[in-house]
Amino acid sequence: MNNSIINSLVWLRRDIRLHDHAALHHALKKSNNVYCVFIFDSQILDNLTNKKDMRVEFIWESLKEIKDELRKIGSDIHIQHGNPVDLIPKIIRNYNCEALFFNKDYEQYAINRDELICQNLNDIDINSYKDSVLYENKEILSQSDKPYTVFSPYKNNHLKKLAEDGIPIYECEKNKNNFATFKDKDMITLESLGFARSNLKSLNIPTGSNGGKQLLVDFDRRMDKYKQLRDYPGKKGVSYLSVHNRFGTLSIREQASIAYNKNTEGSLVWLNELVWRDFYFQITSNFPHVCDNKSFKPQYDNLNFENNLEYFKAWTEARTGFPIIDAAMNQLNHTGFMHNRLRMIVASFLVKDLLIDWRWGEDYFAKKLIDFDFSANNGGWQWAASTGCDAQPWFRIFNPLLQSQKFDPEGIFIKKYLPSLEPLSNKEIHQPYDFYLKKPSNFPIIFGDDYPIPIVDHAEQRAKALKMYENTKL
Ligand code: FAD
Repeated sequence: MNNSIINSLVWLRRDIRLHDHAALHHALKKSNNVYCVFIFDSQILDNLTNKKDMRVEFIWESLKEIKDELRKIGSDIHIQHGNPVDLIPKIIRNYNCEALFFNKDYEQYAINRDELICQNLNDIDINSYKDSVLYENKEILSQSDKPYTVFSPYKNNHLKKLAEDGIPIYECEKNKNNFATFKDKDMITLESLGFARSNLKSLNIPTGSNGGKQLLVDFDRRMDKYKQLRDYPGKKGVSYLSVHNRFGTLSIREQASIAYNKNTEGSLVWLNELVWRDFYFQITSNFPHVCDNKSFKPQYDNLNFENNLEYFKAWTEARTGFPIIDAAMNQLNHTGFMHNRLRMIVASFLVKDLLIDWRWGEDYFAKKLIDFDFSANNGGWQWAASTGCDAQPWFRIFNPLLQSQKFDPEGIFIKKYLPSLEPLSNKEIHQPYDFYLKKPSNFPIIFGDDYPIPIVDHAEQRAKALKMYENTKL
């Protein structure tokens, strides 16, 4: 064996897998003994108020899969709970490591944490890699060497570069003998982390790389229809892979390769979505003011939102009286997921119908989404609120009724998440109260009991929203 490093540590973070993994690939190639570690970061966990947080359980299950895999080959993963700033140097010393390998995390908290850790490891060979995105930070720049703020030219340049560069695979199988031989403690319990089981299992959300691969295989068969079906929440049109992209149980490169090589209309539209993901990552990296609660476009920092607490509560509790909004919020509250079309509709509704600060919605999504990712979430909210780069123009306001009729015409999705509306016809389901007012006798549901009366009038609120935006124009 003529590797230059004897012992090295691979620190897994948002890349919980053992395949196509840049840091692991390089560590296994260069070292004789590779130790893997994951730290449940107390700085992050302490801020989670829901002790049945699905994300913690998702990570826990995915790590358990890794532990089982590594134990099969005589190795293991060391799992701890605490502050990585203290723990990483200690673990490095304990395993007598000369080198640390990890994949880059682009969130502000992680960047600061990693810098601090690295500053304190003077004598350690530190290796960090791009892994969770196809292109990072300043890799895709405009002709004037500036970061893009508009998606289309960014995408064109991104796809051109992808075609020129090819999509690498960081395989880890060939050097798997270089995983260190050791047996660590058995799996840390969720309870010892201060958490308990959520409804993850009952929802059948597949975890770990095996779960991700299972979803990818299923989506691979449906990918060609992505373009036609992607906007209909009542149909199985999208991939449902976002949680795997969030925690890196699948590699983004393997997904992009499949889509790129398939080269069908559907697969290329899907590839576009992966490029949106990169786009928002580079926005947070290149325009960090968005991480400080600021609008991408500063002129919108002073929008005069009404911020009615009752309305906000009704929105979060799926009691607005707008079926498409309430069904979507029920999906979020019960499953931790919301279909993309619905994210756009409920976000627009919160900001432009209820006149509530988009940051309140962003924060609520951050607490609830199983796939919560700062860049995509901030990008999505600023898009809907028209405060972001390449956003929906401020004067374009989704009409929830038309969106509902168009994207859930038979009310399949609405009925799934609002079963009390089951007795309504395809026409009534989108605007039950209007139909009730026209013919109150024998209406199949009781307002107040089965379903609330709409809390606002869309036309009135739309007019107010337009005024609010007009007043802040420069
Ligand atoms: P697919 O349609 O199958 O797309 C494939 C993958 O592309 C997704 O898994 C995701 O990783 C990525 N992707 C798709 N659309 C976008 C997008 N617009 N921006 C960035 N990446 C995208 N996505 C998150 O991953 N985390 C979030 O916290 C998040 N918050 C959002 C908030 C709002 C207000 C909006 C409008 C969108 C948000 N999105 C977020 C983007 C998008 O809604 C989800 O990625 C998508 O619904 C996930 O479902 P899927 O995996 O089936 O997606």
